[in-house]
Amino acid sequence: MAHSKRGGQAVSTARWLTPTSGYLQGYTHTLNPYVGCSFGCSYCYVRRMPIGLFRSEPWGSWVDRKKADPATLRRELARANGKGPVTIFFSSATDPYQPLEATAGVTRSLLEALADEPPAFTLLQTRSPLVTRDIDVLLRLQGRLRVSLTVETDREDVRKVLTPYAPPLAARWKALKELREAGIDTQAAVSPVLPYSPDFARMLADAAPRVVVDDYFGGDGSGGRRSEALGMRSLYDKNGWISWYDPSVAERLSIELRELMPEKAIGISAAGFSPPSVDTD
Ligand code: SF4
Repeated sequence: MAHSKRGGQAVSTARWLTPTSGYLQGYTHTLNPYVGCSFGCSYCYVRRMPIGLFRSEPWGSWVDRKKADPATLRRELARANGKGPVTIFFSSATDPYQPLEATAGVTRSLLEALADEPPAFTLLQTRSPLVTRDIDVLLRLQGRLRVSLTVETDREDVRKVLTPYAPPLAARWKALKELREAGIDTQAAVSPVLPYSPDFARMLADAAPRVVVDDYFGGDGSGGRRSEALGMRSLYDKNGWISWYDPSVAERLSIELRELMPEKAIGISAAGFSPPSVDTD
């Protein structure tokens, strides 16, 4: 895939919060600071969404930052909070910690707005260790925010094939440790579970107080059809991993984790990403 790392164009947005209409279990809104995603994961479902399809450049090669005053978000939050509990999935169609975020600071300014007008719960979903830069703001949201850091495998050889532009795993393990030590509510999101080594469950249990396990079959919202359409089966086959392309893999990891962690610390598929009040575990 072409990967020019082009980015930085500012696109206007009239509002920050998008109502979810219930497609993300337990969330009232999504919040996306960027359009596009420079991590370009092979299994990313956003590739097949209008945003990924109706652009001439390949998914993963571009990212635009949204241009809006965080004061707009503050006003939106004040209004929405007045109507009932607001639960935000931050972010659903990009990673809020794009490499561009290091200089653009859009996510940081949105977090500051959230801290000023705190919603009932925010899930900050990322795979980037850059999230640790914002620990000071995250602490202002303590009790109302969880960081969900994606670690889909402990095998760097697998990551390099399936998500070559995503941050290296060692930096993510380090970020999990740093967040935990800072007292931030954190979970490791094994989403989707990729081929892993025998040490993986132990590493997860040591690194995070909570782990969510998801796969191509339960987690793509279409019983695995979206992942098939993305060509994941043939990519696995080509790399000699076809036995890992099976629903039993997530089940096996969950069983391994149950040997090491309390049952309630293990989330499964979409329900595992729900706000604490609607956890079904
Ligand atoms: S980080 Fe998330 S949004 Fe970005 S390409 Fe990967 S799966 Fe898609």
